[in-house]
Amino acid sequence: MSRITIAIDGYSSCGKSTLAKALAAKLNYAYIDSGAMYRCVTLYCLRKGLINNKQFIPEEIIACLPDIKLSFKFNPFTKTSETFLNGENVEKEIRSMEIAANVSKISTIKEVRQHMVAIQREFGIHKGVVMDGRDIGSHVFPHAELKLFMTADIETRVNRRMDELNSKGQHVEFQEVKMNLEQRDYDDTHRKESPLTKAKNAIVLDNTDLNKEEQLEYVLRLINDQLLTRD
Ligand code: C5P
Repeated sequence: MSRITIAIDGYSSCGKSTLAKALAAKLNYAYIDSGAMYRCVTLYCLRKGLINNKQFIPEEIIACLPDIKLSFKFNPFTKTSETFLNGENVEKEIRSMEIAANVSKISTIKEVRQHMVAIQREFGIHKGVVMDGRDIGSHVFPHAELKLFMTADIETRVNRRMDELNSKGQHVEFQEVKMNLEQRDYDDTHRKESPLTKAKNAIVLDNTDLNKEEQLEYVLRLINDQLLTRD
């Protein structure tokens, strides 16, 4: 069966990457975490001292873009794809609360987005890719054969995010995580450049009451139907 492009968008901590990774493993597709790319830019700029107290000069960040090389490598031990910034594995660093607190502001910069989108389209050029983010179905791959828009209630999302951070040894408070998710949702849906929005032909997937296996099964069925009507 022919390989397709799967675009997964939605609010923060809805389980987009969990689903995307499971799909990629099942279908033997590449998984691209577009949020990790914005997180890498944020990490690079924080390390360079270009962001202070969430304040920054966009021109300074834009000037750095050519020096930021991003790549993903599959780790056969963890069975997930890991993010590399200029050759350094930064998978752990980019998941910190400091990055989370700054990334949505950095991702409002038009030139940053244009740069990321160009790389994302390159990654997806041969299809057979699952990419998750905020503008994948609406902007990066408007012709993706399958577009999902994921959502879940806020309490569920906070608890999932806390579990993820705790499992990595980062202790966080419920309120801190909730405020961060709400702020990022607000920033992502209200920015001028490619705001988070449901693409016209995206299928809404509310996974509040679904476990990982159930949501994977549901989406595999959608993909099967999609492929059967194409081939
Ligand atoms: O998906 P994740 O939570 O890692 O994304 C981090 C941030 O990167 C989001 O809150 C959003 O501001 C930004 N982002 C974006 N467009 C994407 C993916 C992520 O603006 N396609």
